[in-house]
Amino acid sequence: MSNDVDSFSRSYAQARDKFRAAVDAAGGALEVFEHPGRGPDGEALTTDVAWVGPRTDRALVLISGTHGVEGYCGSGAQIDWLRRGGAANASVGVLLIHAINPHGFAWTRRVNEDNVDLNRNWVDFPPRLSSNPDYAELADDLCPAQWTPEAQKSTTERLLAWRAARGDRAFQKAVSIGQYSHPLGLFYGGKEPSWSRRTQSAIFRKHLAGARRVAVIDYHTGLGPEGYAERLSTDAPGTAEFARASCWYGAAVTSTKIADATQAGEKSASEDVTGDNLIGSAKLLPGAEFTGIAFEVGTAPILEVMQALRADAWLHAYGDPNSEAGRTIESRMRSAFYRETDFWKGMVAGQSLLTIRQAIAGLMRE
Ligand SMILES: [Zn+2]
Repeated sequence: MSNDVDSFSRSYAQARDKFRAAVDAAGGALEVFEHPGRGPDGEALTTDVAWVGPRTDRALVLISGTHGVEGYCGSGAQIDWLRRGGAANASVGVLLIHAINPHGFAWTRRVNEDNVDLNRNWVDFPPRLSSNPDYAELADDLCPAQWTPEAQKSTTERLLAWRAARGDRAFQKAVSIGQYSHPLGLFYGGKEPSWSRRTQSAIFRKHLAGARRVAVIDYHTGLGPEGYAERLSTDAPGTAEFARASCWYGAAVTSTKIADATQAGEKSASEDVTGDNLIGSAKLLPGAEFTGIAFEVGTAPILEVMQALRADAWLHAYGDPNSEAGRTIESRMRSAFYRETDFWKGMVAGQSLLTIRQAIAGLMRE
């Protein structure tokens, strides 16, 4: 086990070791779900789960690694909260789910072992959004079969021309709301429930069947100003769910359901996507009052993030992750979703501690 003072990690394997040690020190019981795949160094992959605090009908769920590599953020936040004695002060049960997508975390990818974006996978299959025509129009340029400097230049120029003609939001929407037609492409939702979705469903069934009031914080990175954590709701302003989230978390709450800045409330940095984890989690708990947010921390400019995702898709569809070019792409992915600075980690830890405190206070309200 690592004694590293930093709650954040340098690899998936180190993150898991630190998480297990922190759970042990906090007196929590650890449960391990084995993934069938392996990491790049042949390492075993697991989702690790711990319950701390009292068993009542109120629970807070902290999920890291829905988007693989983004797990560096959520893992660090979970470990930091445990190390600072959060468990001893928790007046509700806290269910920690570490690395729900361990394959993506270990391979420095946002997607899972099948190139599936878990936040587009929580749909009823076959999905309602079976075609996304704007994505199809862009697909060959987003994920070309060649990733030479010339191919990068020409495809990027065409993408930017499309964006200039149709607008920033239309572009972000076309690319990111989800698609089910291009398995090697970006933001692909898959063709069946993923291992991670099935595992999370089993964890919820086991631990939350009797819960009447549940809050979920799902940790993400890659959108918004560097270091700032948007508390992103998938509920529309005017709903009881959004009102409750705003009451607990204040002005940091945004909604993916706000179409533009002319409406009251704050538009989220994310588009209104199909099949995300929060909507899926709420459906697993039909008898509970559900308050879910994504804790979305900014890292790098959006174009830098998109170029990293395009390179990663190419690498795993056509390239060799063990080549020098592969390692360069991997390090770009890492820095697009994880800023390894004291400032950024401090921002994550501080905002996370506050958000957890607010969630527990909200759950305790009469
Ligand atoms: Zn994410």
